[in-house]
Amino acid sequence: MNRAKTRVVRIGKLKLGGGNPVRIKAMLKTPTREVKKLIKEACQLKQEGAEAIRLAVREEKDARILSLLKKEVDLPFVADVHFHYQCALLAIEQGFDAIRLNPLNIYKKNQVKEVARKAKAYGISMRVGVNSGGFKRKFNNPLAQAKAMVSACAGYLKVLEAVEFFDIMVSLKGSDVMSTIWANRLFAQKFNYPLHLGVTASGPFLEGTVKSSIGLGSLLQEGIGDIIRVSLTAASFWEIRLAKEILQALGLRAFGPQIISCPTCSRCEVNLIDIVDKFKKELQNSNVKQPLTIALMGCVVNGPGEASQADIGAAFGKTRAAIFKDGKILKQTSQNKVIEELLKGVKHGFK
Ligand code: SF4
Repeated sequence: MNRAKTRVVRIGKLKLGGGNPVRIKAMLKTPTREVKKLIKEACQLKQEGAEAIRLAVREEKDARILSLLKKEVDLPFVADVHFHYQCALLAIEQGFDAIRLNPLNIYKKNQVKEVARKAKAYGISMRVGVNSGGFKRKFNNPLAQAKAMVSACAGYLKVLEAVEFFDIMVSLKGSDVMSTIWANRLFAQKFNYPLHLGVTASGPFLEGTVKSSIGLGSLLQEGIGDIIRVSLTAASFWEIRLAKEILQALGLRAFGPQIISCPTCSRCEVNLIDIVDKFKKELQNSNVKQPLTIALMGCVVNGPGEASQADIGAAFGKTRAAIFKDGKILKQTSQNKVIEELLKGVKHGFK
């Protein structure tokens, strides 16, 4: 897939846009008064694969937490600022690597220009982030909402460009999939600033997973999008796991082995759900990073054939299982040895 060629913008050391891999951003959810917990969350997000972390900065003491976070977590940090442009100025002084402003609540030209001049002086970038929730009116359809988001953003960009500030990323997030897709498509046709993709307020785990996968996935497969942030009403590490799955499913990044497993049917005589869960945990603990495709299939009749695109796999009978490689059966083993055999094969190859 051809990726839209945008400018390259940095968040600290992290480069995005212009052909760089699509990046993953996280947002901290712990209240800033719980500093130890906040640092623990940031460490976990880095461990999961976040490449930049955003922190809501609502007042001076929030901005001052940055030094504590940076001591423990070597990632670029972005200050998320709404309403109070002075908070943005303070966050820049504290050393944040990028600043996010919302054109729908910090819009006075002199204030926006002051933040841009300061960001330029400190050599950091800015995300212009429009969220559909910031509009005071309702829209008749997703396209009308998308156009309003792009228009709000375009006006803001003019203000920033007037002070020769160009280190800009843009996000246009609707809480519905279609307005998000339309807004980003329209923007990408007219501008070459990198896009941060997300569907905002996408909902609980299942609903949010579907909306994020469709919204971000549709745009990414069109070549639009340079950094993604998945939003879920769930623990923050799930957002990183889902972001990685989306990028890996589209073949844009490779983070490690992928499991494919069948949905089972009445031919299946084992508890495949439990087996897959157990194997997935063991695989995560084994720290294998090769981008292998591993199949776990519920029967020997159709399993190896159905999983012929897998590198390796197992197909289960009533008491035994067949281990197969590239669609051909290598050996038979007892059911309780399958996970061990597969892990051995993944790590050391099959003999
Ligand atoms: S692999 Fe076998 S058990 Fe699984 S869905 Fe296909 S036919 Fe059914």
